[in-house]
Parts: sequence; structure tokens; C-alpha cells
Amino acid sequence: MTKEQKKNSRETYLPYGKQWIDEDDINAVVNVLKGDFLTTGPYIGEFEQAVADYVGSKYAVAFSNGTAALHGACFAAGIGEGDEVITTPITFAASANCVLYQGGTPVFADIDEKTYNIDPKKIEKKVTEKTKAIIPVDFTGQPVNLDAIHEVAKKHNLVVIEDAAHALGAKYKGRMVGSLSDMTMFSFHPVKHITSGEGGIITTNSKEFYDKLLMFRSHGITRDADKMLENHGPWYYEMQFLGYNYRMTDFQAALGVSQLKKIDSFVSRRKKYVEMYNEAFREVKQVITPFQDKDSDSSWHLYIIKLDLDALSVSRKEIFQALQAKNIGVNVHYIPVHLLPYYKEMGHKNGDYPIAEDLYERIISLPLFPAMEEKDVQDVIGAVKATIREYSREV
Ligand SMILES: *Cc1c(COP(=O)(O)O)cnc(C)c1O
Repeated sequence: MTKEQKKNSRETYLPYGKQWIDEDDINAVVNVLKGDFLTTGPYIGEFEQAVADYVGSKYAVAFSNGTAALHGACFAAGIGEGDEVITTPITFAASANCVLYQGGTPVFADIDEKTYNIDPKKIEKKVTEKTKAIIPVDFTGQPVNLDAIHEVAKKHNLVVIEDAAHALGAKYKGRMVGSLSDMTMFSFHPVKHITSGEGGIITTNSKEFYDKLLMFRSHGITRDADKMLENHGPWYYEMQFLGYNYRMTDFQAALGVSQLKKIDSFVSRRKKYVEMYNEAFREVKQVITPFQDKDSDSSWHLYIIKLDLDALSVSRKEIFQALQAKNIGVNVHYIPVHLLPYYKEMGHKNGDYPIAEDLYERIISLPLFPAMEEKDVQDVIGAVKATIREYSREV
């Protein structure tokens, strides 16, 4: 490393995202471990109620992880063999995989150049008589254009399953994400806004979806006498369809309850660091900072910079590696789903979604998590500016 490179290098590695666990969280988990219920117990209901209250939904159903929750939502929406579901290529594979679990076909619609979210106009073009649902993703925490998407859904009688894994605490036109679509999924993976280790949840205002989700999470079994076809006695339960064991443990739910109490401060710290990044990169013409839609109040799961490659002498890969060498835990979100080998084998190919593919060539996610300190943010800014300076092409 040159002297200049060393100067802008961190002593210790800074990850792109990470949980923030305090003594209250630890005590919450330990107390459950000392009690009677390790799996479904009182904290499951408490966590579900707390999330529903926070987002303003009528119901919430906790799952073992966000992917299982999406699978449950696809089941509840009635997705099956031959059905098509439209989602974005710029997401984690789970947003499309959940459709395959149900025997359905994921169909992609390209993104909007500015917001990086799925483009409602392109959704409409992909609707066929086989389309049953849309899975829009609130990418990086910025809500999708829900009004336009709900309008397409209404017109064609489609269920909207909002993948809000990035968007706990976000608002669309002043209303909380989680209360707006037919079903909304949140993930509690450690890099997300709050964590339960592994965990996910579906929020909904529909009693019909709620009942299906509850049974799907537990083998398709009901113990509710009103729902049973027969009744052999007090031991009796009924399995009415093929469900899964997708239950969350009670100690995970207790951790979720404890974490959710801190969501406002977590989101406001994320916002503060985003302001610092935006301010620092305002004058750096090679770095395009995230666009903020006026209707959307993002909760900032990710901070993604887009490189102006014409103004740089190297590709994204060299910039990425240079930042890694400076101990900055950069990442790329995401490799477009249709370009993953499993999806390519289904017939998807390079060139199918040009806006998503162009974005993929140019993006880098910078570290962003509430447990960061301002000094960490300054380190990232210093490293990015030094790297850009080193590789900038004078035009
Ligand atoms: C994290 C994530 C998921 C899956 O959540 P898990 O809890 O990890 O299963 C789904 N979609 C998106 C966009 C995600 O970021």
C-alpha cells in the first residue's frame, strides 16, 4: 500500500451491516430460557401484537425467517402450479424463490432508473391471465410506488405481497409500511432493522389471510373447534392442508419484543448517517447518491452509491477491492435474480432487464447500521473519497 492508501485505511474491519444487542435484549432471552416455553409461548403473541401495533395492521403472524414468511404469504394468496407472480430482479433471491416453492412462476419487471424499485408501468406490461400476485420490494428501505402498484393490482385482481424486509419503520405518503398492502413481510435477520436471530413476520388486515398463515406455519393443523370437520375429543386436532413447521421460538420472539422498543432510535441513527454520506458525496461527481422519492420516507436499510464509470479509469470491481483493502465492509445488493445460474437455467438471460443490469455493474453498498459511530462514517467517507481520487479520470 502507498502512504496515501494507508492514511485512509481503517485499523479494524467495518461490516456493511450488523445487529445491536444490549443488556436488555440479553436479559429478555435469558428469562425465557429459564421459563416453561422455549417454542411457541406468550412472547410469540406479544411480538406479533407489538409489530402489528407499530405498523398499524390488524394482524401479524411470526415465522422462523422472512423467507418462510414469504412462502406462507404465497400460500395464503393461493399461488399454485401455473400461476405467475411479478417481482423485481433487484432483490434477494427469496423474493422470487417463494413463488417457486408453491409451484408458481416468478416473472420479472424491470426497475425504475431513479428509485431502483420495480416500475409499475413495466408490471402492467407483464400481466397475463395467469398472473395472480405482485411481490414489490421496498428496496433499501424506500417504499415502492404503492398507489400505482395497488391500482394495477386492483384492475387485474392481483394480491400484493409487499417484501418490506428492508423497510421496517418506513412510511409511504405518511402511512406506515406494513398496513398498506394485502400482506407485508418483514425480516429479522441480524443485518435488518431489528433482529430475532432468524425471524420474519407477515402483517395483514385480512382475517382470511391471517387464519391461513397461522395454520401454514404449523403443518396445516388447527385446534380451533369451530374450524374442524370432526371432533374426536379434547386431544383432537385436524390437519387440513400441507403446511410446514415454520414456527419462531419464544426466546427469539422475546428478543424481537426487546429490539422493537428501540426501532425509533435505530432508524434515526441510520438517517443521521445517511445525511452525513449525502453531504460528503454531494461534490464528488463520480458518486451518484440515492434518490429520495417525495412520497417515500425511507428507513434506510442500505446506503448504495452508483458510480459514474465514464468518469473513472477502472470498473466497479477495482473500486470495491480498494475499499475492501481499506477495511471497509462494502457489498453489492444485488446480483440480479434472473442472472443467478438457477434462474438462467429456466431461460432468463443477460439483456432481459437492462436497467437492473446496468445498475448491477455500478453499485456499491457502504456500511450502514445503527451501532456505527460517527467516526466509522467518517472513515468510510475518507476511504471512498481517497479511492475515487486515485481512480478518477479527468474529463
Ligand atoms: C432478508 C431478505 C429476505 C429474506 O429474509 P430472511 O429472514 O433472511 O429469510 C427477503 N427479501 C429481501 C429483500 C431481504 O432483504
